[in-house]
Amino acid sequence: METEKPFRVIVVGCGLIGLTAAHILSKTGIDFTILEKHETVLALQGTTLALWPQTLRIFDQLGLLKALEPSLDYIEQGFTLSAKDARIRMKDETVLLIEKNHGHGIKIMHRPDLVRLLYESLPESVKSLILLKKHVVNISPSEDGVKVVCADGSTHEGSIVIGADGVRSSVRLLMRALKRGKKPEDLPQAQKQPYVATYRLYFGEIPILPGLATNTRYDGSQDGLSTQIVNGTDRGWYGVYEKIDSHTSKATRYTETDKVDILNRCGNLYLAPGWKLQDVNARRLGDTGLINIEEGLIDGWSFERIVLVGDAVRKYEPHAGLGYNSGVTDLVVLINDLRQLLRDDKFPGTRTLQDLFEIYEKKRLKDTRKMAEFSMKTARLIAWSSWKDRVMAKYILPNLPLNKAFFNNTFGPLISETPVLDWLEESVLPKSHIAWKHHPGVQNDGVKGGTKSHNVL
Ligand SMILES: Cc1cc2nc3c(=O)[nH]c(=O)nc-3n(C[C@H](O)[C@H](O)[C@H](O)COP(=O)(O)OP(=O)(O)OC[C@H]3O[C@@H](n4cnc5c(N)ncnc54)[C@H](O)[C@@H]3O)c2cc1C
Repeated sequence: METEKPFRVIVVGCGLIGLTAAHILSKTGIDFTILEKHETVLALQGTTLALWPQTLRIFDQLGLLKALEPSLDYIEQGFTLSAKDARIRMKDETVLLIEKNHGHGIKIMHRPDLVRLLYESLPESVKSLILLKKHVVNISPSEDGVKVVCADGSTHEGSIVIGADGVRSSVRLLMRALKRGKKPEDLPQAQKQPYVATYRLYFGEIPILPGLATNTRYDGSQDGLSTQIVNGTDRGWYGVYEKIDSHTSKATRYTETDKVDILNRCGNLYLAPGWKLQDVNARRLGDTGLINIEEGLIDGWSFERIVLVGDAVRKYEPHAGLGYNSGVTDLVVLINDLRQLLRDDKFPGTRTLQDLFEIYEKKRLKDTRKMAEFSMKTARLIAWSSWKDRVMAKYILPNLPLNKAFFNNTFGPLISETPVLDWLEESVLPKSHIAWKHHPGVQNDGVKGGTKSHNVL
């Protein structure tokens, strides 16, 4: 049965992906609201976040690139080293290769800065669509829509729900329960929490330490463990990734004592030449964090009028820096298709929406599986998780140009196939060695197929 109510999207979660959804949806003309459980969308703490070329293209389309420009930092080289004695094993210039291949390079940003700028750059009228302290606890579907219930008793009606509520997604849980006709608490643990914590990460922020280069990444390896310093232009971030042997899907809250323990265990490991963890830690700026790093990829990204994006469908180990970037591509594919559908059919029924969501998942799984594998392998290689990883990291990679071949022939082509918003112009696309497969249907002057294009639905 078709509805006469105007189409409305309810996004659950206003983290990085929810905020990005606000930018994209606000340009489509589709009515939407975002429900966020916290009292602010702003984050105080966080590490650095890498933005890949495919995401920078979307930021350009959204008019965000200029706003972010002053806060964008970069890396131009990396060193891999022994965490035991700081011996340099390899100099890596993959980032420069990526820039040559794709025009845009990889930029880095302090995560809280990215969150703040994504929020502050929204027009006031869009900010008002973000409702805070709205902890979603239930979703009831109907023939022609969805009703979302929050812990404060408020209800919100819409045509579809987009779950952008992260690793422990409530929308995913509620959706899975609806699909199986069960209560969420009666689902098996693997359905309740599909990701498994494989590493714990201790992290903090530092100034550029004496003797270390700016715009440089240092990755230290030791059996089952990796260390890291990422130096931007005027500040850096450090971390230690420790393998968790008893893989768990339960949430772990670490205490200050746990942080002291990790410092005791790993304090003598080198993060960079001349810098052990204990000495780096003594120079920290502000608080440090200790979190579990989960990994996983689900199937079944949707059910009827509910669909998931971002960390709710996948969690990559962060060494490769792809999680947020993949979530942005989710939004691009989903909203491109939704916008197109709504141009032809203002009141799509449940079956039509479900078909669209299934196609979205199919399209996204192609690169998601490859990126998950790349993220997983990168983490294990750096942490020498097996003898094979150790041999590869210590002897093969430093001596053979395998990285270059991989980025030229495998990963580069994968990046170049990332879609863009087909209905928004792109103002700058720097020259690249590998041609991008997708371009907006709109030229710089806003002309599509010879006619003026309206960048709205
Ligand atoms: C250490 C580390 C480094 C990383 N580095 C990179 C990197 O360099 N590059 C990269 O691309 N990615 C990186 N990532 C991954 C990236 O942070 C995530 O992919 C990204 O944050 C996912 O965004 P999200 O919006 O899906 O989830 P989140 O950012 O977790 O946001 C989810 C939001 O939903 C809200 N929420 C949850 N439940 C409810 C509910 N029931 N009702 C209402 N609201 C709810 C939460 O409060 C939160 O605001 C890194 C991750 C880690 C841990």
